[in-house]
Amino acid sequence: MDCDKCDREAVMHAAYSGLHLCDEHFRRSVDKRVRRRIREDDLLSSSATPDDPETWLIGLSGGKDSVVLTKLLHDTFEEDPRVELVALTIHEGIEGYRDESLAACEELAADLGIRHEVVTYEEEFDLRMDDVVEKDPENMAACAYCGVFRRDLLSKYAEEFGADKLLTGHNLDDEAETALMNFLEGDVAQTAKHFDASLAPFGERDDEATRSDQDHFVPRAKPLRDVPEKEVALYARLADLPAHITECPHSSEAYRGEIQDLMLSLEDNHPGTRHSIMAGYEQLAALAADEYGAGEGDRELVECERCGASTTRDLCRKCALVDAIEAA
Ligand code: SF4
Repeated sequence: MDCDKCDREAVMHAAYSGLHLCDEHFRRSVDKRVRRRIREDDLLSSSATPDDPETWLIGLSGGKDSVVLTKLLHDTFEEDPRVELVALTIHEGIEGYRDESLAACEELAADLGIRHEVVTYEEEFDLRMDDVVEKDPENMAACAYCGVFRRDLLSKYAEEFGADKLLTGHNLDDEAETALMNFLEGDVAQTAKHFDASLAPFGERDDEATRSDQDHFVPRAKPLRDVPEKEVALYARLADLPAHITECPHSSEAYRGEIQDLMLSLEDNHPGTRHSIMAGYEQLAALAADEYGAGEGDRELVECERCGASTTRDLCRKCALVDAIEAA
């Protein structure tokens, strides 16, 4: 099958748009969607100048999403002195998993000439996820611990590096799954927070509404959120990027797995489902955010007495978990 834009051979067919695209036109279309998302979200502040650039911190795990995001941001802003990119990799202490993806991150950052920082749970919290899973003092899934620690470090280092924005590699499938989960769980407050935290354009966000327990606050964005997961994977392969594709051995988001299967089957039978979910969800989330407003009414945030992160308690969730793991 030929490309719909030229006479080269197509490398992909997007059922939701009907388009067949060759390597070059496919990559251009991904690039275009990411640039449009950056524009529509007002990601680059009008006050950024070559003398006073914005710093954008990219959460670089070494998986396909964050690797493709880093490459696209690099290509978009390579010649633009108003943006400085810094990549941050978090090593959770999972045997046989993160070491390889860390090598991929280092290779990519060196290729692109991007500043790359690495932090570890071991150095930060004196723990490794492999041990946390063994001890499991709160009887929770591994990802529930890991997510708390990861969010803490992303926020902490975004602040430490003077980052103006924190960018993650969530793709269209991730976002549509989150939307569907919020809906199926009836979680309107989370829907409102999702809007203010990463869906609304920057000028329209209610930053106070997204401050929560254990967050140091840096605004977030997901520039890949219009690109389906399969296309991110194809981009990584065609661009020969050093992405590391191995599942974490502690991966335990069983409910999300069910939603993923449901979404794939809906998309197969009704191409365009993910796009339509997100189009409707964004409108509903905006209404929910209007209704909930800043701080959901009665939260009073104070500083964690140990680490200084904002919290509604004496100790933030991360410090409380570290204590529980140490005591186990
Ligand atoms: Fe952490 Fe879960 Fe991700 Fe593994 S899958 S790195 S445990 S959040």
